Amino acid sequence: MTYALAILGGKKTRTKPYPPHVTTDERDWRAAQRVLERGILSAFEGANTPAFLGGSEVNALEAEWAERFGVRHAVSVNSATSGLMAAVGAAGIGPGDEVILPPWTMTATAAAVLVYNAIPVFCDITEDTFTLDLEAFRRAVTPRTRAVIPVHLFGHPADMDPILEIARTHGLAVIEDAAQSPGAMDHGRLAGTMGDLGIFSLNCNKHIQCGEGGVVVTNDDELANRLRLIRNHAEAAVATGVPVKSLVNMLGWNYRMTELEAAIARVQLRKLDRLLDARLALVDYLTRRLSGFPGLTLPSVRPGCTHVYYRYVVTLDPLIIPASAEVIARVLNAEGLHFYPGFQPLYLQPLYQQRIVYGDKGCPFTCGRSRDQVSYEPGICPIAERLQQEVISTEVVRPPLSRSDVDEIVEAFEKVFSRPQELLQVQDEGGRHAEYD
Ligand SMILES: *Cc1c(COP(=O)(O)O)cnc(C)c1O
Repeated sequence: MTYALAILGGKKTRTKPYPPHVTTDERDWRAAQRVLERGILSAFEGANTPAFLGGSEVNALEAEWAERFGVRHAVSVNSATSGLMAAVGAAGIGPGDEVILPPWTMTATAAAVLVYNAIPVFCDITEDTFTLDLEAFRRAVTPRTRAVIPVHLFGHPADMDPILEIARTHGLAVIEDAAQSPGAMDHGRLAGTMGDLGIFSLNCNKHIQCGEGGVVVTNDDELANRLRLIRNHAEAAVATGVPVKSLVNMLGWNYRMTELEAAIARVQLRKLDRLLDARLALVDYLTRRLSGFPGLTLPSVRPGCTHVYYRYVVTLDPLIIPASAEVIARVLNAEGLHFYPGFQPLYLQPLYQQRIVYGDKGCPFTCGRSRDQVSYEPGICPIAERLQQEVISTEVVRPPLSRSDVDEIVEAFEKVFSRPQELLQVQDEGGRHAEYD
């Protein structure tokens, strides 16, 4: 018997590899050249001098970012991970404080909480947009809760109005992880600008990139000041006279962006809208062509929102599709596509299962509280755990790809999903899941 599926020896649908995610052109080269010719590669100083705020490219990027996102302050950092840490620190989160976040997010979202010896409390996600579930959020709030980190995952905004309302009722800080959603909107407001602090990433996978980098935005002058201190050796800066109202968390790191990255980030920011338009055109085309496939739920958009599709996520109906997400992703990849099986909830990682972070005595989980009060048991977020088995996703519905690349995705789907008998021949190998970065 001969099979058509490439994984069983048939012909591949797509034979050429996907091109790398390149968003740079002559404009970025010129910006980098300008910095190199000047020779000032960074101009930060961790002391009470004008250089406390960095050099000219950093300052220009921050002004342009604040303008584009309509916020009072944009503070550049050397990654969104640093940005999340600076934000949690600026919000005054400390040992034993609980911070609520979804379990479907990059490790950095939770690491930023642990760095301050606070406790991540994972709460379940919605089936349609994979963002914080409101009922689960309400139930997760305790007298120790100090903040919530809604994650605008895969490019879709979390449901911010009710989240802000619940946060206000309980006096929680709202720190938005918008690393995957620059330009996404919720009723006319930009993701990352609705809470107290919002974090964007400029790493090489994100919509716009500068190598490594991030930006934190806020409308609060005091939070902005605290962010700038944490970014740049707070303790040294305060000692030389940079003012701060409270010394809480004023342990300073070096989260400073270089002039070279800032110069490139400025050019990338100007390209954001065009890159988003190109991405949305590809996604619209793919969604149109895949609609009507039995057993597939395509990305949905909550009314009043815009989705910027960092990842294109498809949910498989296990009653209709005769194979697991693991098998489907492997079968599609054998066809030459680039798909991942589901995402693992963070609390299932060894760090949470064994509660080992600082030393081996349970810190910070035992700092000022009982080791077992916050649960990381399998089952605490049943929707997130079930969806791990049911979704597949790809990042390659984005520039510089074209419609013909999307056509190949559709062609492979048509082939794979019309061969249930062949799919049944492929064994589930388990154990694989997608990365969030
Ligand atoms: C990429 C990402 C981060 C971290 O970004 P870096 O700039 O690589 O540190 C944080 N949160 C989410 C949701 C991300 O996708």
